[in-house]
This record gives sequence, structure tokens and C-alpha cells, in this order.
Amino acid sequence: MKKTLEQLTRPNVWALKPYSSARDEYKGVTASVFLDANESPYNAPLNRYPDPLQLQLKAEIAKIKGVTPEHIFLGNGSDEAIDLVFRAFCEPRKDNVVAIDPTYGMYQVCADVNDVDYRKVLLDADFQFKADDLLAAADEHTKAIFLCSPNNPTGNNLLADEIHKLLEQFDGLVIVDEAYCDFSEAPSFATQLQRYPNLIVLQTFSKAWGCAAIRLGMAFASEAIIALFNKIKYPYNVNLLTQQQALEMLRRSPEVGCWVATLKAERAYLMEEFSKLSLTKHVYPSDANFFLARVTDAVSIYNYLVSRGIIVRNRNSVSLCGNCLRITIGIRSENEALLKALREYK
Ligand SMILES: *Cc1c(COP(=O)(O)O)cnc(C)c1O
Repeated sequence: MKKTLEQLTRPNVWALKPYSSARDEYKGVTASVFLDANESPYNAPLNRYPDPLQLQLKAEIAKIKGVTPEHIFLGNGSDEAIDLVFRAFCEPRKDNVVAIDPTYGMYQVCADVNDVDYRKVLLDADFQFKADDLLAAADEHTKAIFLCSPNNPTGNNLLADEIHKLLEQFDGLVIVDEAYCDFSEAPSFATQLQRYPNLIVLQTFSKAWGCAAIRLGMAFASEAIIALFNKIKYPYNVNLLTQQQALEMLRRSPEVGCWVATLKAERAYLMEEFSKLSLTKHVYPSDANFFLARVTDAVSIYNYLVSRGIIVRNRNSVSLCGNCLRITIGIRSENEALLKALREYK
């Protein structure tokens, strides 16, 4: 990273003095009478504000991710961390970001909300990118480059060599969104934080962990980047029920491992059977819990499936995804219901 973090950060954010909550000011554990936060004394434990830095949860996540808690930010879904990248680093109407295309739609939505120019660079026919093409789209106002691996909606891992090249050569931040990494054989970039001070890795409890409802996302980055995120986030951005449920899921991680193994086996089965359907033109390889398939007529097949009570994602109007459907892997009975309906499609 040839630019310093201060040069990449919005001046108002760099200078900001954060809100200091009652729980920030008293961090001890020995007190037994809490009359500092205008909470109700009734209805324990929901009466108390939750830990603003989620330290117990971070300690458990640190153990399984091989990073220390100072390198972890937790948010209201990884969508919160995506938004914080814009709010921390991108000056509206002046700075820009670069992203692969097609990819996850939230990067562009957050760019638009924050009035930051969003520059798309088309993937190749194998849904891969070249670091040089992204670097060519960047200029002195490019604060961040967004990558997603395994990518949504294409399903494939991006080439690790190109990600490394980008991390080495780009003088801004590189975000690697690993929402689907649990379904992939590729190692996580979270182990590369010491090597790359400009790396931000995103993961989530919404997919493999089966916890989309609790809204918990993770960002792994340098201590300095995490400190910036902590400075500008809402004080109590992860509620108590979410923190408790995530701790419970971490205790149940062997069970989660079984879910992932089953879904990977179902993925192989469903993709194999899907490729035999007469309406299928191409099934793209997948490193995620979904796959992309090109079909004869995505719009009419999508509408037909809706009429049969089966919902898939129509990606027909997305770059490079004409006539493509994105299919999430379900349990065997759901996958069979989909296949049965499609065999009866005329
Ligand atoms: C589903 C998904 C997420 C998860 O977002 P949450 O806000 O954590 O639910 C993040 N990135 C990508 C690419 C996704 O597909």
C-alpha cells in the first residue's frame, strides 16, 4: 500500500472523535450497581445495553478464523461493513471504487447511496478477472476495489494469483468478499492480513452458518482499519440476541460442518441432474451453495417455476448472464421438487 491509511481515509472520519457511551466509559466487571446508562432495572438481561465491541463473541470467532480479536469487526450483516468502506474512505462526488462485473449488487447500492462513482470491469468468459484490467480502471481517486470470491452470481472462485497481484500493486484498499468461502476448497484470504495492510476480508453468518435472520457479518482487516470502523459504526450495532445466538452456533460448529458437507454433496448431485435437462444449455462450475445455469428461456422457465411454487433467481438481465438462472442448493426433497418440475416443463 503506497498510500498511507490517513491518505485513504476521509479527513472528517480521520479527525472524528467518536460517541462515547456509558458502556465505553466503564469497562470494569467488578461493579454490581449500574446506574450509568438510564436503563431499566427490570427485564434482565434485555434491559442492559449489549457490549459495543462484542468481545466475548470476537474471542470465539478469533479461535476458528486464526486471527486476533483486534483484526475483527462485527456488523449488522456484512452489508454494514460494505457500507462502512464507503463512509470511512470515499468522499462523495470525488472518490470512486472499482469492482468486477457481474457481482453482488450491494457494492453498487452502497456506492449510489453514498454518491460515490462505481466503476465496473467486465469479467471474462470464464468469469475471471485480470488485476491489470482493474488497475487500468483505477485512478488517483480510487479508494477501493471490490472482489467477491466465490463470486455471486457466477459461483466460481476468483484466481488467487490475480488477487495477490492486485493486493501488491493497488495503492488503495482491496475488499475480498468471502460470503461463500465455507463451500469452497480455496483457502481464505483472512490468513494474509499480516502481508497486506490494504486487505479487507468479508465473511458472514448468513450462508453456511444458517443464520441470515440474526444479521451478523464479519470483516477481517488491519488493526488500524478495524479501529476506524469501530469509530464510525453505531455504538450498539450488534444486539444481544444476535451475539448470544452466534455464540450458540459456534458451540454447534460440528453440526454446521455437517450441513456444509451435505450441501456440497447435494450441489454435485443437483448440478449433474440439472445438466441432463433438455432445457439446460450450460451449468457453470460452482464453489458456493448455488450455481448458475444457462437455459433455453430464463424468463419463461422462471415464471413457470413460480407457478409451481418454486422460486429461483432470474439473472437474465445481469451482465454476462443472459438466460441464466441462479439456483440455491436445498435439501434433497427441495432439489428433487425442482428437478421434477423442470422435467415436466414444455
Ligand atoms: C449473501 C451475501 C452476503 C451476505 O450479506 P449479509 O449482510 O451478511 O447477510 C455478502 N456478500 C455476498 C457476495 C453475498 O452473496
